Amino acid sequence: MKVGEPEKFIVKGKRLDGRKLDELREIKIEAGILKRADGSAYVEWGGNKVMAACYGPREVHPRHLARSDKAILRCTYNMAPFSVSDRKRPGPDRRSREISKVTREALEPVVFTNLFPRTAIDVFIEVLQANAGTRCTGIAAASVALADAGIPMRDLVPSCAAGKVGGEIVLDLFDVEDNFGEADLPVAMIPRKNEITLLQMDGNLTQEEFEKALKLAMEGCIKVYELQKEALRRKYGGA
Ligand code: ADP
Repeated sequence: MKVGEPEKFIVKGKRLDGRKLDELREIKIEAGILKRADGSAYVEWGGNKVMAACYGPREVHPRHLARSDKAILRCTYNMAPFSVSDRKRPGPDRRSREISKVTREALEPVVFTNLFPRTAIDVFIEVLQANAGTRCTGIAAASVALADAGIPMRDLVPSCAAGKVGGEIVLDLFDVEDNFGEADLPVAMIPRKNEITLLQMDGNLTQEEFEKALKLAMEGCIKVYELQKEALRRKYGGA
């Protein structure tokens, strides 16, 4: 057993933070909180605190990156040095580059980039506090920030993970479960099309467990989707 590893993850059907197996952590989403960004969102998701800011469509620098047929979408995921228990060395690293890339791939299918040739749409995701599931929190925040910037989109992109701890498939792992659990499966999707735009897996699952976890994560996405829409309605009104 590793240092800090709990003896049991599930006691009497409840997880170590008191949640049921298919229960999300508490999620709060607020749209439009940064004055200088074209669009922004702040998301608290359990112990995660994540800010997303969107700029654009705007001129592309460096210019050679510009595309004559569409806007380029650029996503930058960054973790603040104080966001984790041991100070994180500032600046990009392999993990943040990977998360930036998968975030862009998760969001790009919903953005009408063809409407803004020769421009860039930039999304910055800043993790202020991390407690597992920051890529999902970042994608959920970024998609609200894009909507808040008025970027035309087919849909919002909610994101949520499921995983395996103590032999059970559970929704939305928190840090102890993520660190010592058996698998983690982050998912992002386009609800209107029922299409998946992010699917990663850390750990091992049987095919049956994988299917169960994927279904659970997609159900989690739909709950996150409702909260994203609510946040936009709170700011802009309407049904
Ligand atoms: P995600 O946050 O999407 O679950 P990972 O699975 O890579 O991404 O990371 C899981 C968790 O591990 C993070 O949310 C964070 O709480 C923690 N973590 C990540 N990087 C570091 C780091 N450099 N130092 C300490 N903890 C970290």
